Amino acid sequence: MGGLGSGNHNRLRGDTLEEHRRIDVCRFKREGMLTPGWIGAWEWKSASGNSNLINVYGGTDQIELSYRYKRGEEEWQSVRQVIRLLRVDRHLGGQQVYFECPACARRVRFLYGAGKEFRCQTCHDLIHASSREGVFDRQCRKIRKLRKKLHADTMMEAPMPRPKGMHQKTYARLFDEIIARETAALDEIEHRVPGFRRSITSLRKSGGFWS
Ligand SMILES: [Zn+2]
Repeated sequence: MGGLGSGNHNRLRGDTLEEHRRIDVCRFKREGMLTPGWIGAWEWKSASGNSNLINVYGGTDQIELSYRYKRGEEEWQSVRQVIRLLRVDRHLGGQQVYFECPACARRVRFLYGAGKEFRCQTCHDLIHASSREGVFDRQCRKIRKLRKKLHADTMMEAPMPRPKGMHQKTYARLFDEIIARETAALDEIEHRVPGFRRSITSLRKSGGFWS
């Protein structure tokens, strides 16, 4: 993979005023950004008039974002974030591609610059509705880790069949712990972000980009 000056450097502009950085997997796909070797920059102006720029390294299974982030009076810091891509078969053929939220592993179309890193709307709302980012993130990380032990999809609420060769007792213990933690995590989101499920649904229904 070449550097940013390697010839196939693209510069694309998001066409909206948006206070938060938001990326759309459908738009990225249309622009050919989910292709190995794609390198370019995604650039837009926020409502406050500031320019935002993210360098994107394309790929089939994951993309990498690279940008600078500054909080208040702190120094600028360089951030690199890998975003996994998930593909799901459509009923009528073909595949739908999603981002995997780096925090809670949900399949989503949009990711938002929530503080230093990109996350889904649920995590984003949670962070803004509370200052308990650390607690929630730790819970989500723990859930993903437990789910991996079961070789299950890391997305919350995805099925968790018993892996071949795993003792029933071990399986039951892991299963119960995951369910308990996911229930707590989802309860916390609902408690702190009233109506968050509704907003997620309407987001999914709206076909528009940068709506
Ligand atoms: Zn999330």
